[in-house]
Amino acid sequence: MNYNDTISTDVLIIGGGPSGLAASIHLADILKQKGQSKRILLIEKGRSIGSHIISGAVIKPSVFKELLPGVDFSEIPFNARVTRDSTILLSEKGAVVLPFHMPYMSNAGNYTASLGQICRYLAVKAAEKGVEIYPGFAIDEILYRDGKVIGAKTKDTGLDHHGNQLENFQPGTRIEAKITIFAEGTRGSLTKMLIKKFDLTRDRNEQVYSLGCKELWTVPEGNIEAGRIYHTMGYPLNFDEFGGGFIYGLNDNKVAVGLVVGLDYQDPSFDVHDAFQIWKSTPFVSRILKGGKLVEYGAKTLPEGGYYAIPKLFVDNALIVGDSAGLVAMPALKGIHLAIRSGMLAAQTTANALEKNDTSEKSLQQYEVLIKESDIHKEIYSVRNFRQGFSNGLIAGGLHFGTQLITGGPGFFGRLRSQADSQTTLKLNEFKKKPFKERFKGKLEFDKVLTFDKSTDIYHSGVFHDEQQVVHLHINDPEDFKAVNIEQYGAPEQYYCSSEVYELHINRAGQKEIRIHAENCMHCKTCDIKAPGKGITWVVPNGGNGPDFQNM
Ligand SMILES: Cc1cc2nc3c(=O)[nH]c(=O)nc-3n(C[C@H](O)[C@H](O)[C@H](O)COP(=O)(O)OP(=O)(O)OC[C@H]3O[C@@H](n4cnc5c(N)ncnc54)[C@H](O)[C@@H]3O)c2cc1C
Repeated sequence: MNYNDTISTDVLIIGGGPSGLAASIHLADILKQKGQSKRILLIEKGRSIGSHIISGAVIKPSVFKELLPGVDFSEIPFNARVTRDSTILLSEKGAVVLPFHMPYMSNAGNYTASLGQICRYLAVKAAEKGVEIYPGFAIDEILYRDGKVIGAKTKDTGLDHHGNQLENFQPGTRIEAKITIFAEGTRGSLTKMLIKKFDLTRDRNEQVYSLGCKELWTVPEGNIEAGRIYHTMGYPLNFDEFGGGFIYGLNDNKVAVGLVVGLDYQDPSFDVHDAFQIWKSTPFVSRILKGGKLVEYGAKTLPEGGYYAIPKLFVDNALIVGDSAGLVAMPALKGIHLAIRSGMLAAQTTANALEKNDTSEKSLQQYEVLIKESDIHKEIYSVRNFRQGFSNGLIAGGLHFGTQLITGGPGFFGRLRSQADSQTTLKLNEFKKKPFKERFKGKLEFDKVLTFDKSTDIYHSGVFHDEQQVVHLHINDPEDFKAVNIEQYGAPEQYYCSSEVYELHINRAGQKEIRIHAENCMHCKTCDIKAPGKGITWVVPNGGNGPDFQNM
């Protein structure tokens, strides 16, 4: 792609995850059937497709048969088929295997996989169908004409820290499109702007998120069989913290382990990465990792607010798909099949709109109708109050969930509301329980064999950012940040950040300030979600910057 240009396309897809790639593949197929030739462009900020993709992952496979009709299923690079699946109630020293599956959590017939590998495979399929795929370009601006979306622009590069142009300055490319599909994944930075501009979450619940930290290990033969999966509840989380661990046995003696924690926790010093390390040191998990070696580390958030937090998904000339649309099925913690399905439905809508030469909001409304008729609605609506029920702790959540199962979804209390994760952290003087470090005293020395500090883990993510660029993490109001975030909350980002970007520092005048190590950023977006006060805004750094996941 040339810089300093305006290029035109019929369809622009922002993001090369499962939702964006599925949209591109299905659209190319439909257009071919209709005998139409249209240009489809897909832009991805990772240096290659898959390098910013991280998931568990256990995948519901059936949607792939519809996305890739005629393709031999065994060609799709799933890992092992799930053989056995258990839920474990974990304590510090013990583990109890539950004799049943939590409702909606059975994984019979599902496959383990590296979602990055799946996306690389889908990108090859898309390219074979004529989709133009450009990894290594970050999009940071939505283009509008007469108040309507007309495409997007890639980020200017060759700027110093202050935004001054350097010798290698390159203005970004304007990409004008008849339809733009926002497939940016969790907390999409452009999707957030789109939602704000068109007030797409009016009357909706606040979106809420979890942060998942994951490691990929290679372990000695016999530690875990391929296809054996475990989900854990309990330790190291308290009853008032939502989340749990996963252990997925993979082929070739690999295992994916992770801890996913709801960002609605209250402790301003809670640290998901460190909680993950403590989880690994329990006898149950450490037995599986014994004698093994860390291969990769990564972290990402995922939207969990469910049905009532889904924004309006269409405006003139634009659609929102996948995690950017909040389409994750709780409590199964599965979004991949829904991301693919939403991409396919967006493709169907787009093909019809292009054929009618009508890309107006009225025409694109078909997308919402298709979603309502699809398995997406079925899966998400039936558990519409699930996550909100757990905002007051596991016991209240369990009771709420019980009533939701009895009543087929709503529970006894009708629609439950949610609070933004940035609002749930308590100030230092309000949080009366043991803070994280005291709670796990003596357990936070990591041995670099089984457990790792953040620096060591970050090293295993391949993360890289150009030194010369404007810092992509913006403190929205520096005065407020100092007075509220640092003074009242104790700078919680130094703990919640999954990759040690934020460091609390005392300057020469003896004042506390935050240093931002943007070069470590894993693109998990937690700071954009969880920072209290006037907060932090995450924007895309230069294209190709960020982690370089291989098999996450
Ligand atoms: C720890 C964890 C475990 C999970 N486990 C499971 C599981 O076991 N099963 C399951 O089904 N789901 C699971 N999920 C959820 C699942 O991974 C997501 O629902 C799914 O990946 C969403 O797909 P997507 O295409 O919407 O977004 P993503 O997969 O996030 O892809 C979005 C892509 O867009 C790119 N992008 C973003 N912004 C821009 C921009 N401005 N310019 C250019 N490119 C951009 C990103 O780099 C990324 O490659 C898990 C999620 C996490 C975090």
